[in-house]
This record gives sequence, C-alpha cells and structure tokens, in this order.
Amino acid sequence: ACNGCITSAETVLVEEQSFGRLLEGIRNSKMAVITVSPQTITSLAVKLEKTPEDLAKLIASFFRRHGVKYVLDSSFARQFAHSLAYEELLLTPSTSRPLLSSACPGFVCYAEKSHGELLIPKISKIRSPQAISGALVKGYLAKKEGLSPCDVFHAAVMPCFDKKLEASREQFRVEGTEIRETDCVVSTAELLEELVKEEGVAEDVEEEKENNWTTSLSRGIIIGEDGGASGGYADRIVRDFVAQNGGVVKTSKLNKNMFSTTVESTTTGEIVLRVAKVYGFRNVQNLVRKMKTKKEKTDYVEVMACPGGCANGGGQVRYETMDEREKRLAQVEELYEALLRGNSWEESVREEWKRLDTNYKNLLFTDYKPVETNVAQTLKW
Ligand code: SF4
Repeated sequence: ACNGCITSAETVLVEEQSFGRLLEGIRNSKMAVITVSPQTITSLAVKLEKTPEDLAKLIASFFRRHGVKYVLDSSFARQFAHSLAYEELLLTPSTSRPLLSSACPGFVCYAEKSHGELLIPKISKIRSPQAISGALVKGYLAKKEGLSPCDVFHAAVMPCFDKKLEASREQFRVEGTEIRETDCVVSTAELLEELVKEEGVAEDVEEEKENNWTTSLSRGIIIGEDGGASGGYADRIVRDFVAQNGGVVKTSKLNKNMFSTTVESTTTGEIVLRVAKVYGFRNVQNLVRKMKTKKEKTDYVEVMACPGGCANGGGQVRYETMDEREKRLAQVEELYEALLRGNSWEESVREEWKRLDTNYKNLLFTDYKPVETNVAQTLKW
C-alpha cells in the first residue's frame, strides 16, 4: 500500500516475516504471544462462514496447539491509543494543525518519502495499536511473567503488509537493545492458508468451549470501538470533545472514502471542531495539496492509505472478482459494526491504564522525527 514506493531493502524485510519464521520464533522462545487484529477476525469469519466469536476461538486454539501462551486482540491496544488521542489534540496548537493519525504505516511511509517536511511534524506521536501491543508484551507482560524481553516472542496477524515494515523500524526495539518489540507480522491471508492446511477446524470450536485456557480470544471476545473497521480515532475525538464541551455534531460524506465531521457550539452556532477521515491515496494526495496551499482547516485527520481502510487492507482475504470483493467487504464491515454493539471494553482499559506505571505509559509514544517536546512528559503521566 506504500504508494508503490517500496525499496528492495524493504521487500526483504517483508519477505523474511513468513509463517515459517513465526513458527520458528514460537519454538525458540520461552513464551510466545500473538496479537490479532479484529479486521483479521472479521475477514476470516466471512471467508470461513463462522461467527467472529467462533473464529476468535478457532484462532486461539490454532496458536495454542503451536505453543503460544497468550493470544490478544489488538483492539485492546487500540483503546489505549484512542484514550490518548483527544488529549494530544488539545496539546497541539492551532498553527500546527491538522494533527494527522499515525496508525497506518502505509501513510507514514508515504509521508516520510514524499512530503517529509510538511507531513512528519504533524503526525501523531501516539504509537499504532500493533506498536503499543509490542511494547506492552515485551515490557509489561514479560516482566509480569518473570522473563526477559529476549525470552519472549511476539508476533502479530494484521490486514496489511506494511505492518511488517512498521515492526522492523528501529524505534520499535526494546530500549537500548536490538530486540524487536514485534518480532514478526503475518497477514490475514497468510494465516488463512495455514488454517485450511490443518484439519479439524470445526471441532476446534467445540473443544475450545470446554477448556479453561483463557485469553481474550479464546473466550471469543473481540473488542469493538466506534469508527468502523479502521482507525476510529476521529470518532473518538469527536465523542470526547462533545462529552467535555457539548455541541451539535454534523457529518458529511464527501466521497466513498472521505468523511468530514464538524461540531457546532450550541450557543453561538460557530464551528468549534473539524475532523476528517481520509482513506485511499487519491484522497490523501488531495489532502496534501490543500495543506500545501494552507486551505486545509481541519483540526484532526484520520488518514488511512487503503480505500475502505484496514477492512480492505492488502493482506486481507482476497477474492477474484470486483463484485465478490465488494460484497465480502460489506460483510466484513457489517460484522465489525455488530461487534461494536456487543462489547465495551472502555472501562477495563481505563482500569488497566491506572495500573500501568509511568515507564510503561511512555512506551505508548513514538516520534517519526525528533521534536523538542516529549509528548509523554507534556501529558504529565
Ligand atoms: Fe495497512 Fe490499514 Fe494502512 Fe491499509 S489502511 S496500509 S491495511 S494500516
């Protein structure tokens, strides 16, 4: 998705993160942890005609058989990211806006290579859910289990090949070491290939209900969050803003992959907040053009490189025809929306957040380019 600008060194980084490498990593570690994205679960649920809950159990069971100890839903990390987004926007002066979301490595990679000076200073310092999960697994969870980060293997299953590049970035290494926080990333389609190779897929679901091996996925819990099957940052910012200030929310669909939301003051009718969702490179390029000419007045933009966002990521299950692709994508989105209505993990994330000490909270941030202010310190954890 990286706008066709992938280098040969990056191709090597993508190709070396294979399923074989993942299994090898599990075998050679004292503890293995897998983070699975909810887009993966919904894409596979549609393909294998199962409920997302049963599919989650199936994935958990599959990895358990291969020796994995914890299988986590990445939405848990996403909730951490969301809970910081509004606060980061408040700390961003109007002259530095729009603040741009950082969760999509396809966009970050494009920004770095194509419009670094304009875009990079505006990119959020909050890590992506995958990077937050990696930091917490190699930091918090390893310590909790009495292990050193080098004894722990952490892999992720994502809708996207660019996540492999993100995992190999220097900034996502355990501090002061060469150890990656996320050792390996495989795509949804790569996992599907392995799942269908193994027999007994249907029986697994029943079996999993019987045992007491518990992780979020083995219990079939998938965390939903406002904002559909992608980012969710823009929706969360609007929600937090309105909870604190009140206001009238108006959303307009500018095209299939571009939405704009404004909040108007209930007293003056003035627009007090503008956010946008900009998906797909064509829309991203328009955004860049408007930013260059200073015509972009938005406070926050959630940017995703793929048209349709992560539900339609390059690593998802593929279908032959365009019709089939569109039909299945609509099903994936529908399943995801249903999950949102079924689960609310906000409370438990808030509780976990209180328990995390300052050192771990600092792990939730990154910088794509050194800036003077350390956001983690500014937010006064
Ligand atoms: Fe990956 Fe999602 Fe970005 Fe597509 S939109 S490149 S799937 S993170």
